[in-house]
Amino acid sequence: MTEPSTLTRAPRPSKPAADPRPGLSGLPDGGLETWLESEGQPAYRARQIRDGVWRQNAASAEELLTLPSALRASLDRAFRIDTIATDEVRVSDGGLTEKSLHLLSDGALIESVLMHYPARGFGRAGAGEDGRGADGRPEHRERHTLCISSQAGCAVGCPFCATGELGFGRDLETAEILDQVRHAARRLAARKAHLTNVVFMGMGEPLLNLDRVLEAVAALSDPQRFGLGARHVVVSTSGVVPGIRRLTEINPQFTLAISLHAARDPLRDVLVPLNRRWPVAEVVGAARSHARVTGRRVSYEYVMISGVNDTDVDAEALSGLLHGDLAHVNLIPMNPVAHTPWQASSPQRVTQFAARLREGGIGATVRRNRGQDAGAACGQLAADRAGEPPAPAVAHRRELIVRQSEVALRGDRSVESLPADLEAAVAGRKAKR
Ligand code: SAH
Ligand code: SF4
Repeated sequence: MTEPSTLTRAPRPSKPAADPRPGLSGLPDGGLETWLESEGQPAYRARQIRDGVWRQNAASAEELLTLPSALRASLDRAFRIDTIATDEVRVSDGGLTEKSLHLLSDGALIESVLMHYPARGFGRAGAGEDGRGADGRPEHRERHTLCISSQAGCAVGCPFCATGELGFGRDLETAEILDQVRHAARRLAARKAHLTNVVFMGMGEPLLNLDRVLEAVAALSDPQRFGLGARHVVVSTSGVVPGIRRLTEINPQFTLAISLHAARDPLRDVLVPLNRRWPVAEVVGAARSHARVTGRRVSYEYVMISGVNDTDVDAEALSGLLHGDLAHVNLIPMNPVAHTPWQASSPQRVTQFAARLREGGIGATVRRNRGQDAGAACGQLAADRAGEPPAPAVAHRRELIVRQSEVALRGDRSVESLPADLEAAVAGRKAKR
């Protein structure tokens, strides 16, 4: 049995019952027409409702003023017009980063982060220090990028991730994913701006909630609904290989990002525990065939942790691994999180590591950390709300991480199986397919 790396906190008050009404924004294509017909309503109302949901970003039925009041009332009885309530917004980086904590109808908390990138200067549009976007291509326009959650919590349990520490809550519904986007669009409309990019890099593992993530991307890219090209969407995964393969078959237009963080199995077993099920070679093999079949470059995310995965040996292992691939590496100095024994790599180390990768022929971009003063690491706001776990549990977690990484740094692979809720999450995903 694996010792859990998630922390047990004091029991929380029991959750309110989830609202059983489906979220309006999550209705599939044609769903509104079907419902209107069942209500004996004319089909043209569908466009008015869609405009209310996707242009006006309505939060309640009362805002749908083009509809007769009786229809507004039936809509309200049948659907939740908004499935999330924004509980807190923390603004940082002089207004360039807005981190929101959203409350769901069952009391679960999720986060989204809206990042503004001015057209000129440093920190453009999801861009790194070289002014390139997530896939390494240059970016020039002003951009507004939203980072959204696909699950409440996460079962994967990466020890440098605040969400991983919280453990798994539940999958988000399609509407709960999309309403994060509608909330951000509403905030942007107030400043006469539009959302230009959406990245699934918030809480949760998108490929363990893949059906809903695909439904959400379909709504985002549908010109009748949100109308954002799928090419402006990035979906990040910690390496759910069957999910990557499924994406290759479907060939969606979005960019796939792989959270690699280590090129060698012993270390990746610790940094991304899912590696014990799908090791580096399988993950990179699946990503490589995804790039080959779709013709789209795969991004690799690499969180840089001082003295753990940032040595020259790691850089060489990484460039050897990706050599000749249609790939781009994003180096992200670790955001500070509570309860890990680790620190971010120094800026000099990050620069040297990037230089080594480029010498090895691998495109690499250094990402700036956003929102450090707002609890930058995703899951940090929700963790703050959950309260500080007992000191002995924190000490135990730190010891466990140190012990596991010592074994890894000696080059030995983990002998531990997947933590129980990760095993269940992976099995659940398989059962759904
Ligand atoms: N679960 C998916 C998507 C959400 S996490 C995945 O892991 O890919 C999105 C990204 O944030 C991942 O690359 C993850 O490794 C990174 N991340 C998590 N904690 C971080 C931290 N403390 N500092 C920097 N990046 C972090
Ligand atoms: Fe889950 Fe991604 Fe955090 Fe790992 S980094 S615990 S996969 S959200």
